[in-house]
Amino acid sequence: MLRSLPRSGFVSLLFTLAALQAAPAASPSELLDALVAAYPDALARHDGEKLTWRDGTVMAVSDGRPDKPFRERLTNPSILDQMTPPYRTGRLAAPPALNDDPGRFRNEAFFKKMYGDCTKGEVQARMVPIVWLPKSWGKKVSVTSVNGIADKLKAVSDEIETLPPAIRKAAFPIAGVLACRPVADTGKMSMHGYGAAIDLNLEVSDYWLWTKKTDPIPYKNRMPQEIVDVFERHGFVWGGKWYHYDTMHFEYRPELIRSGAK
Ligand SMILES: [Zn+2]
Repeated sequence: MLRSLPRSGFVSLLFTLAALQAAPAASPSELLDALVAAYPDALARHDGEKLTWRDGTVMAVSDGRPDKPFRERLTNPSILDQMTPPYRTGRLAAPPALNDDPGRFRNEAFFKKMYGDCTKGEVQARMVPIVWLPKSWGKKVSVTSVNGIADKLKAVSDEIETLPPAIRKAAFPIAGVLACRPVADTGKMSMHGYGAAIDLNLEVSDYWLWTKKTDPIPYKNRMPQEIVDVFERHGFVWGGKWYHYDTMHFEYRPELIRSGAK
């Protein structure tokens, strides 16, 4: 088929294929539109420079340094920094590229404002119990009620219950939800510190810090794609899509599910 094309047709086909693979990156304004749309209870609007919360709080979206090195972006990202790189839903075509960690950049002021400060008991006051996998496991776990996350996790649980037993068993027992502690390699509060992340069955999970330190880090995953698909449909991103992978880990980041669609 390709051989029969005239040379110019072949070249333009190549350009078309390249364009399909490298979709244009979303603009800062589009990323902020996605952010505001993802948290309708909390966020009111943005003007490209400032984010306005429904209670009138205003935050700068940029620190004026969009090209910070990876380590600095990880430890001190702006609100705009946390929107990139894009998160892609569905099955990974290949292991994540070096430092491709969509979702690991979290602006601490933004998330503390959203969920509270667990060191002051603010997060705990908003936690509610849900029964995780009532037919398969049936134990209570407490998760935040902010952004309707408790209801969303109940819906995730109901959908996982419909999967075959061999797949479902990767989703319990739960390894943890609330943990008021920073991420090991960033020193910044984990989404577990906000009650907005859930770790599934440790027995079928892999974490980059458990491997021997080699460069590049060898990718490992045993979490079934069917479970990942359920979480993504409800606004959760999966740690298995990070170069610094954490395959038991899912966190509520609907702003990335939207921007990743670009
Ligand atoms: Zn986790």
